[in-house]
Amino acid sequence: MKNLKLVTGTSGKRTVVTVDKVDVGRDLVVIAGPCSIESEEQTMVTAQTVKDAGANMLRGGAFKPRTSPYSFQGLGLGGLKLLAQAKKETGLPIVTEVIDPRDVSWVAEFADVLQIGTRNMQNFALLKEVGRAGRPVLLKRGMYSTLEEWLNCAEYVLSEGNPDVILCERGIRTFESYTRNTLDLSAVPAIKELTHLPIIVDPTHSTGRISLIGPMSMAAVAAGADGLMIEVHYNPQAAKCDADQALTPDMFRDIMNRLRPLRTFMDSMQANQRNHVNQAEVTE
Ligand code: PEP
Ligand code: MN
Repeated sequence: MKNLKLVTGTSGKRTVVTVDKVDVGRDLVVIAGPCSIESEEQTMVTAQTVKDAGANMLRGGAFKPRTSPYSFQGLGLGGLKLLAQAKKETGLPIVTEVIDPRDVSWVAEFADVLQIGTRNMQNFALLKEVGRAGRPVLLKRGMYSTLEEWLNCAEYVLSEGNPDVILCERGIRTFESYTRNTLDLSAVPAIKELTHLPIIVDPTHSTGRISLIGPMSMAAVAAGADGLMIEVHYNPQAAKCDADQALTPDMFRDIMNRLRPLRTFMDSMQANQRNHVNQAEVTE
């Protein structure tokens, strides 16, 4: 891959992005919450629900990059204030999207992680701005982008002096129309080969179907993902955005109960493998 310097690195050490007490790249990290922040009740109830189920961070959009200009665009500052209140009540760090370079510095006062959405992955002015914002960045893969293009966007952020980038595979456009996008799970091990940065998977926007979110979450963990980003709403039918793909609290709890044992199993497999290698070296 051409022109990549900082994202490829030379030390062989993997980056761990620390957000409050959460270590992305070490623990299995689950970021959950609604697509968009809609009201105080929706935000507080959903935040407490995902926390009780074991989520590590709260997500929610205050600025929504919608396909139609007539769709709900988010509550803006009001949404960020509700996220701050949810953080106070639950202690969960906040992940929220920023869509305009002019907003980065003040949104960063509310966000623990600044999310760059798929539609803005190659917004280079925005990437430079979040590179100077002093906050970790969650960089979603552009829906039409190659791994090389995606990593070049991460390079933009790192080259501005911000080493804390978390990559997020969220599905790419293919000819398949049953799913909203096609989840490219091969991106997970491929990204691990190509960069030291952590990678998480968004099974919500990639499938667009609640029935597929559980299986794809498990598959992402099995593929070695460092975490997941999942949309949950306390009352999905009433959601103002992405209602068809939001999990109910019960569905989310069920997935969480299956994810952690799988990760423990994967970790023990890896430890076994390391032991075998070490023993083989000793007996050689
Ligand atoms: C989101 O996570 O809120 C979102 C809009 O996702 P994407 O940018 O992947 O479509
Ligand atoms: Mn959404």
